[in-house]
This record gives sequence, C-alpha cells and structure tokens, in this order.
Amino acid sequence: MKRNGSDRKQRTLLYMVCHLLKLVGQSNPGMTLLFFLILMGTGVCTAGNVFFKQNFFDRVEELVRGSATMGLAVGSGIAMALFLIFTLIVQAASELIQNNFNLLLRGQMGRLLNEKAARISPVVFEDSRFLDHVSKAYTGMEAAAAVMHSTLSICIGETAYFIFMGSYFFSIKPALLFMFGLSFAPSIIGSVIRRRMYAQLENRSAPYRRKYEYFKRCICAREYVKETRLWRAEGFFGKLYRENLGKYTQLQWRTERHSELTEVALRFFLLIGYVGTIAMLFYYVFQGQVTVGAFAAVFASLDQLFDRMESVFNYRIGDIMRGFGAAQNFYAFLDLKEREGTDGTPLKRERIELKDLSFTYPNSAESALKNISLTVKKGETVAIVGVNGSGKSTLTRLLLGLFLPTEGHLLIDGKSVEEIRPEALYKGSSAVFQRYQCYKMTVEENTRLSDVNSAGRVDEALKKADFPLDSDKFAKGLDTMLGKDFGGIDLSGGQWQRLAIARGLYREHDMIVLDEPTAAIDPLEEADIYRKFTEISKDKTAFIVTHRLGSAKIADRIIVMDGGRIVETGTHEELMELGGRYREMYDAQAKWYA
Ligand code: ADP
Ligand code: MG
Repeated sequence: MKRNGSDRKQRTLLYMVCHLLKLVGQSNPGMTLLFFLILMGTGVCTAGNVFFKQNFFDRVEELVRGSATMGLAVGSGIAMALFLIFTLIVQAASELIQNNFNLLLRGQMGRLLNEKAARISPVVFEDSRFLDHVSKAYTGMEAAAAVMHSTLSICIGETAYFIFMGSYFFSIKPALLFMFGLSFAPSIIGSVIRRRMYAQLENRSAPYRRKYEYFKRCICAREYVKETRLWRAEGFFGKLYRENLGKYTQLQWRTERHSELTEVALRFFLLIGYVGTIAMLFYYVFQGQVTVGAFAAVFASLDQLFDRMESVFNYRIGDIMRGFGAAQNFYAFLDLKEREGTDGTPLKRERIELKDLSFTYPNSAESALKNISLTVKKGETVAIVGVNGSGKSTLTRLLLGLFLPTEGHLLIDGKSVEEIRPEALYKGSSAVFQRYQCYKMTVEENTRLSDVNSAGRVDEALKKADFPLDSDKFAKGLDTMLGKDFGGIDLSGGQWQRLAIARGLYREHDMIVLDEPTAAIDPLEEADIYRKFTEISKDKTAFIVTHRLGSAKIADRIIVMDGGRIVETGTHEELMELGGRYREMYDAQAKWYA
C-alpha cells in the first residue's frame, strides 16, 4: 500500500464542503435547497426579533412620554409576538429539515465508501494497516458530515444573523460594531491553534482505539466468547483493553487540557469586550445619541449575540477543526489505490500460464510463493497439495486474479493479468474459499449471492452440493433464515461448507477453485465431496486444494507445494512412482483412508 500518513493529499475545508454538497445536491436537489433556505431563515428570524423589540420599546417609551397612542404601542407588541411565533415555527421546521438532510448526506457518503471498498485491490485487505484505514474512514465519514453541516450552518445561518445584527449596530453607532469586532479577534487566532492540535490527536490515537476495541471484542463478541471463557482469558484481555484505552484517553485528555486552557484565556478577552460594549452603550444613551428603545433592544440581545459569537468561535469552529483532521481520513480512504486494467474483453480461459511468478504479502518479509511456473489448459482438473502454510491458498488467490504477482507473470489467454479489467477477470471464475463465509441470510440468498444477476436454479446448485433441504430443519425451505444473529437456525460446519460449495457452483463459471475445507469435514467426507466436485467440473478448469492426499488422486494432475515452491508435479501414479515428497506424505496419511 503506497499511501500512508506522509504522502497523503490534504483536502481543504472548501473542497470538503463543495464535494459533499454536490453529493447530496445531485441525489436530492430539493432537500438541499430547502436546507439552505431554512438555515438562512433561522438566522434572519433570530436577528429580526431585535428589530421588533426596539420598535416595541420605543413605542412604550413614547406612550409614557405621551407622544404615542396606546393603539400604536399594543400594535407593535402584537407584531413582536407574531414574529416570535413565526420564529418558533421556522425553528421547528429547521430541526426536521436538518435531520433529514443529515440522513441523506450520511447515506450518500456511506455509498461512496462501500463502492470504493469494492474497487480496492483485495490484497490491500491483507495489510493490517488497512484496517486502520477502514476504521478511520468510518469515523472520518461522521466527522466530515458534521464538519460540512457546521460550516454551512455558520456560513449561512450565523452569517445571516451577524450581518443583520452588524448592520443594525452600525445603524445605531458604527463604533459599537468596531468594539464588538475587536473583542473577537483573539478567538479567531485561538481556533487556528486548536485546529492543529486536533488533527495530530486523531492520527496518534486511532491505533490505540482500534486495539482497545478489538480487545473488547475478544472479551464479549460472539465469535470469541466461548474460547475466551474456556481459557479464562478475560483478565488477560481486560488488562490489554485497559492499557490501550488508558493510552487513548491520555492522548485525548492532554489535547483537551491544552484546548481548555486556550479557551479560558479567550473568554477573558470576550468578557472585556462585553463590558466595554455595555459601557459604550450607556455612554451614548446618556449623551442622547441613542434612543432608549435601541438601548433596551441592544442590551437585551447583547447576551445572545455574545453567546452566539462565542459559540461560533470558541466551540463550533473548534469542533469543525477537530472534525476536519478526522474528516481527512474519509478522503484518504477514497484516495487509496484501486485495481486498474485496460482490457475489458471477456476471457475464454483457454490457457492460464504462470511464468516464474512470486508473491509476497504486504508487510511480509518472506515470499509466500516463489518462482512458480505452470500452464493449465481449459478443462483440466489440477490438485494442489502440500502441508499447511506451503502456499496453496495463496496460489489460488493469484489464479483467481484476486492478488497480482509481485514478480513474474500470470497470463490468461496470453494477456497479462495486470492488463485485464477486474470485471472481466472475475467473470466466469468461481471459488469455494478455505475460510468461506457463513452469511446470516436465507438459504436462497446464501446461494444466489455469488451471481445475483443470474437466473440460475438455486435448488440445482444445492442438490449438486449435497445440501438436503429437509423440511423438519428448514421449515421455510429456501427462505429459511440462517445464523443466530437475525433469529435464524444454525448449521453444522459441514452444512455451511456444502452451502459454500453450492454458492460456488451457482455462479456461472469456466474455472473454479475449491480450497480445502478446514476442520468442518472428516477425511472420508472430504474425499467424497472432492470426487463429486470433480465430476461436476468435468468440462471446466478446476483447482482443488487439499492437504489430505486421498482427495487428490482423481485429478488430471497433482502439483505438490512446499515452502511456496512447486516441488513435484504429475499424476497420482507418476508421483507414487517417483517416490519423493508426495509418496512420503501419501504413505504417512494412508492409514486414514484404509
Ligand atoms: P496454505 O493454504 O498452503 O496453508 P497459505 O497460502 O495460506 O498456505 O499461506 C502461505 C504462506 O503465506 C504462509 O507462510 C502464511 O503464513 C503466509 N500468509 C498467508 N496469508 C498471509 C497474509 N495475509 N499476510 C502475510 N502472510 C500471509
Ligand atoms: Mg490454505
């Protein structure tokens, strides 16, 4: 994986806001427009109230002095009340619209992440650092959404409010506006400082978060709980959990503390500004330069104005900056290198050639495959055998085109695998993985998943895979829900395995890989499954992987792997004759098949 913290591209706030706006705007222009209008509306309404207040105070004061009628004073009181009611309605609508907009935004951002994950080269997922990327991308998504929302609500809602209030202050006395502006200058500088602190925090603390979340899972997640209980390892994981959580909170705490200190200093300046503004106002009224109504209205709204200014500069911009660092991770994920390719013509898979191919996992010192050369013609059944860790599964991942060779070449129909576009590469190939998935879905969905657009017959695939749908266990037949997570029934390891085989067979293919079932199936059952599988795949290219040699006999050709290399190749008889590694392993295992 090429991209890491150092060479990654930073997005500006403007880019983020525009990008996300475009994202929602394209999916729902009406909602986006409404969102803009309501933000502006709330800002203007809040400021407008000050106008109505001044008007009312002035009329009351005139009434007291005898220069205005009762009707006029009551009328302006009613106008003020009506406007307040209107403001309340706008605020309620604003909540609704903003929530709706947020849901829409997150939905669209989630879609981007999922689509991206589907385009990233699968080998990247083997890199432990990548998990950090995924975890950061999801927190980054939340952060980016919040950043965009806050930025817009400040730029539109608050700006409308401040412009309105600013012009109002200016119309009363320009010096008031000046004083007000001055008291906020330090806050602006402060928010820049804090932005830096939080960007660093996210980068440094994410690895600890990932660890403590993992250790928590080791203690209480379903897949771990049985083992952890048996080993009585709760304390062991608990300690690791606490250690990492401690480091995480320590980092958080340190940044929070610095940030709070800056904030206290800034508030001091604000206080001076607040007192100064009131003193000026008092002076102007005393001099008769400002009406009593204006004095009362400004005085009454000053608290709100300072609160809002303070909230914008000290908290909300702070929040944006804090989120901005994390939001970069959303984009860093979208920037990850994708699997490319130029040739999209469908493959016939007449010939698969591996030439001096080597493969090394990311972050791994030793190659998992070393100098492999092999040619397979269409329709051949090739068994790949060898002890655990000899590279069998890795080889199948390269044959499927999931991983690209790190050295040497893999040619399909004479085309280098790097040139072939992923869609063309995956079409027509199928697999039953060693660590197949048990999808918590119905039997039908579990099968159909491999080729969702195909009109193939699910029941046929299940039959081929010897998966009996007996009615006492599968009450709803194909619609029976599997797995405990969503209230379905659980299957035995062997049944899940057969379902995985059915899924592999359901997909239309001219090449298929069957990687060895792990603990789920006993040797005899495995031999039986493999025999059946080979029969089904007679006219297709098939790779069957096993460390139990009894299952390999039926293949057209057997390749024996050891330490990432092909050490022997031939038919069962030839290899027995040879009396090498294969023979040795076969004799050692023969007692199992007696
Ligand atoms: P087999 O299927 O024959 O048991 P594998 O192909 O799974 O063997 O593994 C071959 C070698 O590659 C082993 O040494 C294994 O430790 C290593 N390996 C497998 N997966 C990874 C991975 N994701 N990252 C690093 N090394 C791996
Ligand atoms: Mg394997």
